[in-house]
Amino acid sequence: MIPPRWPLHPPPLPGEALSSWLERTASAYDLPLTTLLEHNLGTAGRQVSKVKRAQHHDQLDTDPPALLLEVLHERSGVPVGQLRHMTIAGWTPWLLDTLDVEQAGTFNCFVRQDSVLFDHTMIAHGSDPVRWRPWLQSADGAERRQRACPLCAERPEHGLLLMAQLPIMLGCPEHGCLLQPAGLAVRHYPGAPDPEVTAVTEMVQAMDRRTHEGITTGQVTLPRRTVHVGVWFRLLRIVLDEVNTPTSFLRHKADKATLETIWARVERPVRAGQIRWAPYEALDWDRQAAMLEAAAMAMHLSSQGIIWARGTLGSLLSREPDRPVRSDPDPTVAWTNAVRDFNAWLLTIVDDRDASRQLLIQLSATNRTPEGYELTRQGLINSGLRAEHLPHWPGMNVMVLPDA
Ligand SMILES: [Zn+2]
Repeated sequence: MIPPRWPLHPPPLPGEALSSWLERTASAYDLPLTTLLEHNLGTAGRQVSKVKRAQHHDQLDTDPPALLLEVLHERSGVPVGQLRHMTIAGWTPWLLDTLDVEQAGTFNCFVRQDSVLFDHTMIAHGSDPVRWRPWLQSADGAERRQRACPLCAERPEHGLLLMAQLPIMLGCPEHGCLLQPAGLAVRHYPGAPDPEVTAVTEMVQAMDRRTHEGITTGQVTLPRRTVHVGVWFRLLRIVLDEVNTPTSFLRHKADKATLETIWARVERPVRAGQIRWAPYEALDWDRQAAMLEAAAMAMHLSSQGIIWARGTLGSLLSREPDRPVRSDPDPTVAWTNAVRDFNAWLLTIVDDRDASRQLLIQLSATNRTPEGYELTRQGLINSGLRAEHLPHWPGMNVMVLPDA
């Protein structure tokens, strides 16, 4: 019989990956993670353990079976919602719309519906990549790489961050040193040489701390205002696309000058020396690191007024007075207001059917498809709102919801 509750289990750390927390839990019993999965977590654990070990962490941290999260809740008392936020799936639709690569062909919608640095009406884009998901390689691409801070790795109670697996941050938000492949960051035996510690720039630290703030609090403090973490993820991914824009795509001289200024400040050739364009997710890690440096520099230069972020979301990075970039009504303002309201409302409307419905209507205002509407609805449910308060898209009802 499987015991219902573990007598020992360290609490999950802010931003920690599910696999990291389970590794630390298993080590409390001097067990390998595979043993914990196969012999203590029932059918769901054995289901995960069937995958070869190299993919364990990937499945655990990407989209583990719902049953496994329920069993982990029984064993530890950690709420299922908190466990889910230790996985990539727990961050849909904010980090990415969906994990399903067949439904995620929305590069243009995710990356180019808004803009930050450039006037997006003055950019000539190439064709959209297919089978694309933000931050993740294609479904049949190589596995993600867990990276770690060498200073954090000195302390076994420090876990590995979920987002350190993605090309979304360069440094440790606590120590400001470059994240390295986890195998290189750890001292493998007493007396082994110290792992290499490389500091990231102040600009990169500032950007990584914003990402960590968003992951741990749900909000990110920008020069102009505090925004929902979903806005931050979107803004960051847009800037990473913009610093990767071939100059020949830019029709406006000011945008070309902005791009050249950013890359000159990071002392690298424009676009890290690439000739052809490829989406950020398809670049190798060295080029992704260069893009992250350039994005951090772009945000710094914008906040200092050295460059003017002319895009629809550009004013969020600037301390300058508001410059109207669109005539009223501005959909960017409407969207930003909606997520600001989300921040304020979420905790107070869990039991309020009407407010829940109203929030869904607000957040789905730009969704033109049943799939997009349903993704937003599911995101609110994942964030704690009640499914029975949130109606399905008309015609997709699985049951008729009575009015309150
Ligand atoms: Zn660290």
